[in-house]
Amino acid sequence: METKILYGKEVAEAVKEGLKPRIAKCVEKGIHPGLVVVLVGEDPASQVYVRNKTRACESLGIYSETLRLPAETTQKELNELVDQLNVDDRFHGILVQMPLPKHLNDIEIIERISPRKDVDGFHPMNVGRLVQGQNALLPCTPAGVMEMLIYYNIKTKGKHVVIVGRSNIVGKPMLNLMYQKSEYANATVTICHTGTRNMKEYTLRADILIVATGVPEMIKAGMVKEGAVVIDVGVNRVNDKTKKKGYRLVGDVAFDEVKEHCSAITPVPGGVGLMTIAMLMKNTVQAAEDHINLKNDGKK
Ligand code: NDP
Repeated sequence: METKILYGKEVAEAVKEGLKPRIAKCVEKGIHPGLVVVLVGEDPASQVYVRNKTRACESLGIYSETLRLPAETTQKELNELVDQLNVDDRFHGILVQMPLPKHLNDIEIIERISPRKDVDGFHPMNVGRLVQGQNALLPCTPAGVMEMLIYYNIKTKGKHVVIVGRSNIVGKPMLNLMYQKSEYANATVTICHTGTRNMKEYTLRADILIVATGVPEMIKAGMVKEGAVVIDVGVNRVNDKTKKKGYRLVGDVAFDEVKEHCSAITPVPGGVGLMTIAMLMKNTVQAAEDHINLKNDGKK
C-alpha cells in the first residue's frame, strides 16, 4: 500500500477559503474582523512569524496591526497595553507573540487577555471550556491537526491515539481535543513525555501517532505500528552545510524510514506547520462572529 503524504497547504487553503464568506458576512453587519499582534523585543524567529501572520490577514481582508515594543518594556506597560486592547473594538483577536523577554511573565499576560479575544486559545477560560467540551477558541496548532485529519478523512473515533509531548501549546490541548465525545474525536488517548518508561511500548500501539517533542527525528521506524497514521508537529533546525542557509528543517519523526511503514504521514516542512496561521485566522473570524452575536443578544 502506498503511503499517503498529508500536505498542509491544501488544507490551510481550504480553511482560508471557507473563511471568506464568513468575513464578508461580518463586514455586511458592520464589523470588520481585526487582529492585533504584539511583539516585544527583536527575536528573529518571532519577527518572521509575525510577518507571516500579518500577510495572512492581508490576503483575507482581516484588519490587522502589529505593535512592536522594545525588549525593555516593563510588565506594567505590557499589562496596560493588553487592558487597552481588550476594550478596543477594532480588534477581535489579540495575540502576544511568545516567547516574551525573560523579565516578563507570560502567564500573567495570557491570563490578562480577554478570553473572548484570546485567539491563541491559551487563556485558562478557553482551556477549561475545551476540557468541558464547550465552544472555545482552540489552540491553533492542535486545532490544525484536527482539521487535517478531517480533511483527509482520517477517522479518530474508537482509534488509539498516542501523543508524544505534553506542552501547553501542543500536547495537552491535542489530548483534550482527541478524547472529546464528538464526531471528529472520540479516540482513546495515551500521552507520553520524558517521564514515560519504554515509550516504544506505547507508540507501537498507536493507530494515530502525534509527535510534538522538539527532538529532531526521535521517532524511528521501529517505534511505529505498520499502517499507522503519523502526524509530525515538530519543526527543528539541524546543521547542514550543503544548504545555503547552513541548516535544514526536520520534524520529530525520521520521515524517510517511518514513511515506509505507515499508511499516512505529514512532511516537515509542508505539513502541520502550514496549518497554524490558517487556524489563527479562523479563530479571529470566530471571535468577530461571537462579538456580533453578543452585541445582538444585548439588543434583545
Ligand atoms: P516543548 O518543549 O514545550 O514541549 C516538548 C514536550 O515533549 C514536553 O512535554 C517534553 O516532555 C516532551 N519531550 C521532549 N523530549 C522527549 C523525549 N525524548 N521523550 C518523550 N517526550 C519528550 O515543545 P512544543 O510542544 O512547544 O513544541 C514541540 C515541537 O513542535 C517543536 O519541534 C516545535 O518547534 C514544534 N511546534 C510547531 C508548531 C507549528 O508547526 N506551527 C507550533 C508549536 C510547536 P516533558 O514535559 O516531560 O519535559
